[in-house]
Amino acid sequence: MDNAATAPIEPDVYEATLPFLFEKFGNPSGLYPLGVEARRAIDDARHYVADLIGTKADRIFFTSGATESNNWVLKTVAAEMKNMGRGNHIITTQIEHKSVLNTCHYLERNGFRVTYLPVNKKGLISITDLIDSIDEETILVSVMFANNEIGTIEPICSIGNICQRYNIPFHCDATQALGKTIINVESIDIDFLTASAHKIGGLKGCGMVYCNLPKYKDYLKTYIHGGLQERGFRSGTENVVGIVAFGEAARLANEDKCNRNAIVRFLRNYLLDNLLQIEGAELNGPSLEHRLLNNINIRFKGVSGTALQGLLAEKGICVSVGSACNNGDATASHVLKAIGLTDEESRESIRITLSHHNTVDECCEVADSIKHFVKLLREAC
Ligand code: PMP
Repeated sequence: MDNAATAPIEPDVYEATLPFLFEKFGNPSGLYPLGVEARRAIDDARHYVADLIGTKADRIFFTSGATESNNWVLKTVAAEMKNMGRGNHIITTQIEHKSVLNTCHYLERNGFRVTYLPVNKKGLISITDLIDSIDEETILVSVMFANNEIGTIEPICSIGNICQRYNIPFHCDATQALGKTIINVESIDIDFLTASAHKIGGLKGCGMVYCNLPKYKDYLKTYIHGGLQERGFRSGTENVVGIVAFGEAARLANEDKCNRNAIVRFLRNYLLDNLLQIEGAELNGPSLEHRLLNNINIRFKGVSGTALQGLLAEKGICVSVGSACNNGDATASHVLKAIGLTDEESRESIRITLSHHNTVDECCEVADSIKHFVKLLREAC
């Protein structure tokens, strides 16, 4: 029930990667058949990942995950734009993942100015706010496709249009949206897109950067120097197993998206209907129309989210409080705060994120357990 944190590895992904753990262990830079085989597998994976976001394979670069990808794009594109005398102003939102926010804080300490756009109760930025914050110094806009905590899908098409109109590169962190909503980078004017493999049934420690190369080739700079892998942009012997897994996960996600998404949407709506019947239950964030199809972020008045999570965990049910990356962090979620929740309301909240591997029986069990524990915790107060 915490698939936004990470999703189980797809069985077909497991099968596809096994040969690369054993007999096909070659270094893709090797010129003998073992190396050529590994190189070919990486090329295939690049095509599958490109197909999933509606682009060409040569615009995809593999990395160690979305955290690295976000660091790479933000740091090098910002630095290059600044070097070219284009300015030093970056626009992002208050609800980005920490891999964007903390990178922006780093850039602020290094001579950049950053505007953090506020969001409304649904978690949506306002296009007017975006336009108003653009000035002559603006060199980069970074807005996530869908939020990891409350599932808000941002108005990406309009943002892309505006960036295009002002000739500002648009970076979009699509880590949570990949495979769960249709993404076509070329028709919606995204210049840089980043994501991680493990959210769609691939392995942890593998991710990607899409770059609109015809327009921004000279702005995405080499981030890791060395043996010139990934066409010189990102050195280091490739994570062949991770990349093959990513490719297969992307292929499956693309092929089966209608079926998977119908299952997930049905399960999410079914579970949500049940949970909203609990007295004092309130859905945090957007209406279903603007929400990622697998996301529920809900609070139960007077009930500690952490206590509820602990009781559910004892039954083997995994949900998260705030977001998984913030779980070690006692402060209230920055996302729930940004949509106007008080610290107390934030601490009453849990996040449930489903996958096509969940079942109706599991959703019934989860709903019953939550009903039971909410009652128990309220009685204990
Ligand atoms: N961006 C978003 C929106 C995410 O949800 C995550 C993972 N929680 C990341 C970036 C970072 O991904 P990774 O930890 O795989 O690098």
